[in-house]
Amino acid sequence: MKVHHVNCGTMCPLARRWVNGDGGLFERGAMVAHVLIVEAPHGLVLVDTGLGTGDVADPGRLGPFNLFASPTLSREETALARVQALGHDAGDVRDIVLTHLDLDHAGGLGDFPRARVHVFRPEHAAAMARASRNERARYLPAQWAHGPSWSLHEPDGERFFGLESVRAVPETNDDVLIVPLVGHTRGHSGVAVRGERGWLLHAGDSYFHRDEIHRTPAGCPVGLRLFQAAAAVDDGNRRHNQARLRELRASAPEVRVFSAHDPVELDELTSPEQK
Ligand SMILES: [Zn+2]
Repeated sequence: MKVHHVNCGTMCPLARRWVNGDGGLFERGAMVAHVLIVEAPHGLVLVDTGLGTGDVADPGRLGPFNLFASPTLSREETALARVQALGHDAGDVRDIVLTHLDLDHAGGLGDFPRARVHVFRPEHAAAMARASRNERARYLPAQWAHGPSWSLHEPDGERFFGLESVRAVPETNDDVLIVPLVGHTRGHSGVAVRGERGWLLHAGDSYFHRDEIHRTPAGCPVGLRLFQAAAAVDDGNRRHNQARLRELRASAPEVRVFSAHDPVELDELTSPEQK
């Protein structure tokens, strides 16, 4: 399957050095919302949706996220615009597979009202319940007010390079898998896609900076380190699953692992050599 890597939500938080690990403290940082557009045999499959046209039209609904993330909110960056730029329309998107339902990942759902939305069952339960203050801020019911056709998944004994996984989109056989990596949220998962160049693993918010996974010893700019610990619903499990990703990198280097928000990882995957 051909896979397009696109950015569906630039964010420019304060203190670039603490976010990106380079540049100055008084510069703005740069983060992306890494989304996959997959050309599957039965239509398009999206992995995550970034921020959508509903967020661009009504930024106020994002609440405090606007303050700490400073999203640029441009219509050209939405998944809908990215799909249209490839010559498709919204109706061509048959399935959306989400790493989790945080507002910077689920914002585009309303732009594809007819798509089936696949998510790990505990994540859907957490987003519907919004049981804590943390979860009331991160999950935005307005983003799924159109009533998507949910497809909720539970582990079925499938493995992905030793990690528990779940077959997500039946029409792709076993080429799109949900890989539970909980901690950031209650049902946070990675999404594995077998592209024409081999396996990709969209690790969502399992980590935020490439040096956490791709460098030894691992490192992370202080701002992102503190943010991840504060945002996690279960920080012990988050760190445990991050360590499992480092093990996967070592034992299966052929799997291309990347996170949702690192702009350098996205650049590498959209560079001409990767096309
Ligand atoms: Zn995120």
